[in-house]
Amino acid sequence: MDLVLLEGTLADLGEPSYRALQVWEWTARGAGSYDDMTSLPKHLRTALADAVPFSTLEVVTERESRDGTLKTLFRTHDGHPVETVLMRYRDGRRSLCLSSQSGCPLTCTFCATGAMQFGRNLTASEILEQALHFRRREAVNHAVYMGMGEPFLNVDAVLASALRLRDIGITHRRTTISTVGWLPGLRRFVDEVEKPIRLALSIHAADPELRSELMPVNDRYPLDDVLAECRRYVELRRRKVFVEYVMLAGVNDGPQHARALAASLDPKAFKVNLIPYNPTGGFDASSRSAIEAFKAVLDRARIPATVRLTRGRDIEAACGQLATAPRTRRSAIRG
Ligand code: SAH
Repeated sequence: MDLVLLEGTLADLGEPSYRALQVWEWTARGAGSYDDMTSLPKHLRTALADAVPFSTLEVVTERESRDGTLKTLFRTHDGHPVETVLMRYRDGRRSLCLSSQSGCPLTCTFCATGAMQFGRNLTASEILEQALHFRRREAVNHAVYMGMGEPFLNVDAVLASALRLRDIGITHRRTTISTVGWLPGLRRFVDEVEKPIRLALSIHAADPELRSELMPVNDRYPLDDVLAECRRYVELRRRKVFVEYVMLAGVNDGPQHARALAASLDPKAFKVNLIPYNPTGGFDASSRSAIEAFKAVLDRARIPATVRLTRGRDIEAACGQLATAPRTRRSAIRG
């Protein structure tokens, strides 16, 4: 529901200011409609149902992976596609992968979202509605802003929505915002958000030339400046930054790349997550032994590193696979 419209409508109806909070609390706890909100007078429930659509995202399709991962394709009221993923783990973790934009204007070469048409920034309400859709189905307890889009290109809506996720059952410590290193938004996040929301940086190469080939955004915001900002986050928040590194065979997965990565990271400030490449065209995935050898270099340098579990690949719900329009195949870059 559009929370700005909700507040305006309640004010127009002459309702007391606590009503907006009441409606939000019902919604955040998984109410399926205004009619479920039994502490509101009946006439108000009817008036709201007429004036403020309960959800502005329309479900287009929903798919479930063999591993239990769910992917939902939504459409915004003005026709833009948005994908959201729910990952279910055996230990009870229920992790949402939220989109911050429809498509993405950045053009990271290995990511399918970057190859589809960019639509627009999502509003805070549209981001929350993705979470609420799954909350109505089951309890959720983690969220990562790792769906479509670059969160720090849409920093106001991303931060406003992230702060409200707690009401849905996802604490700030279990909320992670992932960025390519878009500095203006990253600076605002570090300066303005005092809550312990976590930060992840998509790095993918430590060498500037290689990183620029893989992620053109590197020309605009050089990695040294981005890492300096991450260290400021670590000092202020006292939490490590996750570093994401997608493993591309013959491109960024050699021991020299691992040594360069280790040299650029302070073990007290960063934790590396190696991501097996999910096919999107253009690259080959690193072998398991190449990933292990890479990790061994990081281990020797005492840089904490884990290999990410791949989820939902059979339904194109895995990292980097969110896209809806037919995508252009990019040619491979060989390092
Ligand atoms: N734009 C933000 C948020 C998206 S996060 C960011 O890039 O951080 C999505 C994560 O999946 C990023 O770390 C991204 O680099 C990674 N990714 C993209 N394409 C991938 C692919 N084909 N296989 C595995 N990981 C991929």
